[in-house]
Amino acid sequence: MTIMRGSVMSRETKAAVLCELGKPLQLMSLTLPSLKPGQVLVEMAYSGVCHTQLLEARGRRGLDPHLPHTLGHEGAGTVCEIGPGVEKVKPGDRVVLTWIKGQGQDVPSTQYKSDMGRVNSGAISTFMRHTVTCENRLIPIPETMPLREAALLGCAVPTGSGIIHNAAQVNSGSTIAVFGIGGIGLSVILAAKATAPKMLIAVDVVDAKLRHATQLGATHEINAAKVEALAVLRELTGGRGVDYAIEAAGRRVTMETAFSSVREQGGLCVIAGNLPHGERISIDPFDLIKGKRVIGTWGGETSPDRDIPKYVERYLARELDLESLITHEYSLDQANQALDDLEEGKVGRGIIKF
Ligand SMILES: [Zn+2]
Repeated sequence: MTIMRGSVMSRETKAAVLCELGKPLQLMSLTLPSLKPGQVLVEMAYSGVCHTQLLEARGRRGLDPHLPHTLGHEGAGTVCEIGPGVEKVKPGDRVVLTWIKGQGQDVPSTQYKSDMGRVNSGAISTFMRHTVTCENRLIPIPETMPLREAALLGCAVPTGSGIIHNAAQVNSGSTIAVFGIGGIGLSVILAAKATAPKMLIAVDVVDAKLRHATQLGATHEINAAKVEALAVLRELTGGRGVDYAIEAAGRRVTMETAFSSVREQGGLCVIAGNLPHGERISIDPFDLIKGKRVIGTWGGETSPDRDIPKYVERYLARELDLESLITHEYSLDQANQALDDLEEGKVGRGIIKF
């Protein structure tokens, strides 16, 4: 039985659930709860698959007191039903689902029933056909915006574009190195290209990903598995170092290299990757005295209600090439394959189609 838009015929849905750390996700039926104030029931069309879900599933974020739980934090779909007090969306609206908090009511968690008992869920989950989320994780989008491309506006694109425009505030004519060419790295490349950089250098260990970066506007490729990335970056910049280094690989050595690669007196390194819980990076504080800077970023300092409609407009005006970020498409049944492919470095941005 499926759910009819507007009127709920059945309260069952299907989800890929994390039951045990380091084990495959389990496909199961969940009973949808009735909506609390501030909650919204969304029929998912597409979900992004990102590094965060991989770290969660593999147990690399440390102890997980919420098991078993649902997963996923970016997607797009259509509103089926709204709970009391919801004003931002109505049934039939097309929406982006994003982990980044925006305007509206905040309901931090929800729960579903299953044959194996209770399944926990946070404010947003997208690896499921229907999801109960809260008002402030939803951004309504126009009918003309395709849901497939809209799904990337929940995490990859706001983070990548936000790093360039909000966090780093990159000046035009700069030299920019992007480490790690996954969903966020590709999105950084797209946004950086729009600033007319002097050099836009992609660094990864997979040639196919580097070629993809070049198709999207990178001017140079460095395969860090074959050459010493830091030495090549120095050479390219006449020994100075780059103006900006963005780390989106989520690796310790890459973070340290990215920091080392920025120029003295004003070079900026932005760390966007996730390290496994407990890992540390090491930098030379003398580099800080010499004026190298390093910052973190919280989703590219995105304000979803301000920024996501802007990305929709740019997509519809053919100024933001979202199609080319999507490299792999999976069904919900293939959610484990999607995580395996991501771990093996095969994927730019993978999406689940419902
Ligand atoms: Zn994400």
